[in-house]
Amino acid sequence: MTQPVNPPVRLLMGPGPIDADPRVLRALSTPLVGQYDPWMTATMTETQELYRQVFGTRNDATMLVDGTSRAGIEAALVSLLAPGDRVLVPVFGRFGHLLAEIATRAGAEVHTIETEWGQVFPPSVIEDAVRRVRPKVLAVVQGDTSTTMNQPLDELGAICERHGVLLYTDATASIGGNPLETDAWGIDVVSAGLQKCLGGPSGSAPITLSPRAVSVLDGRRSIEAGIREADDVVSDDPIRSNYLDLAMILDYWGPRRLNHHTEAASMLYAANECARILLEEGREAVIERHATAGRAMLAGVEALGLRVFGDVAHKMHNVVAVEIPDDVVGDQVRGAMLEDHGIEIGTSFGPLHGRVWRIGTMGYNARKDTVVRTLAALEHCLRRAGHAVPQGAGVDAALDVHADPAVDADRTAPVGAPA
Ligand SMILES: *Cc1c(COP(=O)(O)O)cnc(C)c1O
Repeated sequence: MTQPVNPPVRLLMGPGPIDADPRVLRALSTPLVGQYDPWMTATMTETQELYRQVFGTRNDATMLVDGTSRAGIEAALVSLLAPGDRVLVPVFGRFGHLLAEIATRAGAEVHTIETEWGQVFPPSVIEDAVRRVRPKVLAVVQGDTSTTMNQPLDELGAICERHGVLLYTDATASIGGNPLETDAWGIDVVSAGLQKCLGGPSGSAPITLSPRAVSVLDGRRSIEAGIREADDVVSDDPIRSNYLDLAMILDYWGPRRLNHHTEAASMLYAANECARILLEEGREAVIERHATAGRAMLAGVEALGLRVFGDVAHKMHNVVAVEIPDDVVGDQVRGAMLEDHGIEIGTSFGPLHGRVWRIGTMGYNARKDTVVRTLAALEHCLRRAGHAVPQGAGVDAALDVHADPAVDADRTAPVGAPA
């Protein structure tokens, strides 16, 4: 006999996914409705408005791409970039490499600048590169979970404006937990996902496009032959993907509701509920909650005598990279966390593989009790692995931060950098 799906109960404290908010799980289990049902079109329209607020934008072109965050990234890049177009990608971690890779496959002429993992770029370095490369698009990750760094974006819009460049950012890991102001910062295109600070499952990619970005798509508009009407004009250089063609996806969400894919109704419900939960609590309050939980986790791991990787002043609120002590095997401790405590923490990629664990405090799990449970379990697993740790110090430090979130709030000095 096959068994029904019955996953173990886990506490997901890695760099994503995290436990979905129970309200989102309930939304996922509600009945399916066809995409032309008036209730459904109204719910799609409502979801667009919710995400305008989440993104901090008035962009009409705000919608969901069906697929994981990577679908949103690929939709943005393949739709904005025609073969031969120049794109500049500042790379400060794994996801910068992903943007470059996707842009390469889209046939773009890709230029990268790189900085050491654990650092971000000063805006002046990016502007120098923009001046040199003269790209059509500057594509940059906001928060890169591979390094935990949060690239400042607030000055990049003005730089792009000065040089006539479109600004795209992947805010999957950062949105909700860290400030992001699409319009005020002059960002043309932002894509995201649900499974980090928005407290949902992966599988839907909210995206927003400025009128300037939409006008780029308009030049490459294509409408499938079977649904095209006599006066529809189509480009002879269409976007090189059908499923991820943002012009088509816009026509689907827009007033014409031109048929494209079958809306992933359950994911739409989840995305709608994620946004609603965030906006009910308030954008600022949610960022504050992530800031507090993140500082509590940081204080906790440091109180356990562990070192933190990277430039802490530029760390995302919602994830911390903890250097693995020399006297333990990282994967054994991670295994014990899962086996003995039901808690998942993250491993790492590339240059950080085997060097750091990544511990997330995001979305539904950015809470005092989850931070405390994780620190208590980590202390226990380290001791069992033979690494001396001060008893109770991690939990105490985290509770102190939660008791007085103002303590340490202005911490800006980098710490834990290799001596
Ligand atoms: C986690 C993360 C993603 C995830 O992409 P998926 O396709 O949903 O797995 C994308 N970009 C960044 C910056 C991330 O941190």
